[in-house]
Amino acid sequence: MAKNVAIIGAGMSGLISLKCCLDEGLQPTCFERTEDIGGLWRFKEEVEEGRASIYKSVITNTCKEMSCFSDFPMPDDFPNFLHNSKLLEYFRIFAQKFDLLKYIQFQTTVSNVKKHNDFSSTGKWDVIIERNGKEESATFDAVMVCSGHHILSNMPLDSFPGIERFKGQYFHSRQYKNPEGYEGKRILVIGSGNSASDIAVELCKKADQVFMSTRHGSWVRSRVSDHGYPWDMEFHTRFSTMLRNTLPPTIVKWMMETQMNRWFDHENYGLVPENKYLMKEPVLNDDLPSRILYGAITVKPTVKELTETSAIFEDGSLEDVDVIVFATGYQISFPFLDESIVKVEHNRVRLYKYIFPPDLEKSTLAFIGLIQSLGSIFPTSELQARWVTRVFKGLCTLPSESTMRASIETRNEKRIELFGKSLSQTLQTNHIDYLDELATEIGAKPDILSLFIKDPKLALKIYFGPCNPYQYRLDGPGKWKEARNAIFTQEQRLLKPLKTRVLKDSSMASIASLLKVLGLIVIVLAFFFTIH
Ligand code: FAD
Ligand code: NAP
Repeated sequence: MAKNVAIIGAGMSGLISLKCCLDEGLQPTCFERTEDIGGLWRFKEEVEEGRASIYKSVITNTCKEMSCFSDFPMPDDFPNFLHNSKLLEYFRIFAQKFDLLKYIQFQTTVSNVKKHNDFSSTGKWDVIIERNGKEESATFDAVMVCSGHHILSNMPLDSFPGIERFKGQYFHSRQYKNPEGYEGKRILVIGSGNSASDIAVELCKKADQVFMSTRHGSWVRSRVSDHGYPWDMEFHTRFSTMLRNTLPPTIVKWMMETQMNRWFDHENYGLVPENKYLMKEPVLNDDLPSRILYGAITVKPTVKELTETSAIFEDGSLEDVDVIVFATGYQISFPFLDESIVKVEHNRVRLYKYIFPPDLEKSTLAFIGLIQSLGSIFPTSELQARWVTRVFKGLCTLPSESTMRASIETRNEKRIELFGKSLSQTLQTNHIDYLDELATEIGAKPDILSLFIKDPKLALKIYFGPCNPYQYRLDGPGKWKEARNAIFTQEQRLLKPLKTRVLKDSSMASIASLLKVLGLIVIVLAFFFTIH
């Protein structure tokens, strides 16, 4: 009989986990505490307990061709970077296409997941759920935790002496919805991550003045890269990853700094990271530098102290403020799991490849989406789920506990070396390296060398072009016959929403100019022969 799998959460990770279970012939049941799918991408005016909360204007910072699921490209008329409502639309058509909704039990909260009494021999779990005020329990062969990690606010009030006497308003970015009501205010935004930057930019259009306090700085990039391509289609290529991995570190660091400063000099804007060479998650914001240039946002150092009405910064400067927005990130938490199963320490969870607890007798518990990639998390969650479902089926096996533990520690050391110690970087990974690592587990990593012989055109595209999700459907389990075509048609999907004003007939126009040139040549030649 097919194994039954409990999936906790029907956000992006839950939906793709459902599909992967079905693809592998497993029997999934998904529990979602709210009334609908989409997780954090379903905007609501009010903040909901236990679910991530976004502001109304959130737009993806990874583009549609790099953020779709690997056998389901986004509609070609969708914009390249999506408003949250548009991404939710994609999830809806995805769920409909693969008929996923019938496996989801809405308004059902998982309150506890514990080992079944014969766990050591069966690996089964008891899942306790709460629905309509009643508690129920069911036993599952395996569990996929897809509950997200942007729910519990990190509110570091201890680091802000004087906060108790501050008379203005203060709250976490999770509470922020839109700029209404902040007209004429002096606002201090703490942090320089993506939330801080988006919120500062939005508020500065209404506020009297916005201050952005950053303790370590950030690299800021535009979503628009060279020649107008989405940044991630240029950044995440196998070729550039190979260069980053093989060139001497000093050259890589120099290249990174040069690339990051090409748009504007971060030092001049007060944003330069304290450690310039960390690959910390970049901020994707098209407006932040211009707003700083207009003087609408002033970058400040760390807050030293707060008074009743003002903030005093480390450099001794003082600014009067009415509102403080703590865009200080999130804490990882799994309220339904006992610490003996998984423990969060300093925002870090010790999981093998960010997925499996290493010390369980059976590999029947997996975390999907508990990752922060330099690229899109969507194909990342998908490959995690493709591997996990094959582990659950017994088609892939995990190494010994000691090997997994050693791998976790080595990976963590490397992470700190690359991305730093900040609590917001504990889940940070490289993009293509991690995708390839997961794909290797299931035999879906594209074999570039043999492709150069069999299909050189495709090999070139894969090696030098954007590492899009379709690459992981060319071969191996779950092979999708349209993958090659999807790779070659991505440019069309990219351009479709852009070329909305096409000159009447640009091809005719170029023929006409060619004819003009030819005509000119004929006239010159005729003139030449006439005078001779
Ligand atoms: P979530 O979307 O948080 O979904 C979790 C679901 O689990 C929710 O529906 C919740 O209700 C449910 N749930 C939680 N606990 C329980 C329980 N006990 N019982 C039942 N149900 C439960 N990543 C990118 O790749 N590109 C981007 O552009 C991008 N933009 C982002 C913008 C913001 C503002 C934030 C905060 C993150 C962004 N991310 C982005 C990262 C983000 O993590 C992913 O985009 C993705 O949505 C995460 O999906 P998820 O399903 O893992 O979690
Ligand atoms: P985040 O990336 O964790 O950033 C938190 C910020 O707060 C960092 O600048 C951090 O500084 C700072 N901070 C934390 N503790 C602090 C303290 N005690 N004192 C001063 N500063 C402190 O959180 P986020 O910006 O909310 O983003 C969360 C995730 O959502 C990220 O993956 C992000 O990419 C994503 N996101 C995406 C979008 C989008 O797509 N448009 C929008 C928002 C968020 P240090 O760096 O010094 O630690």
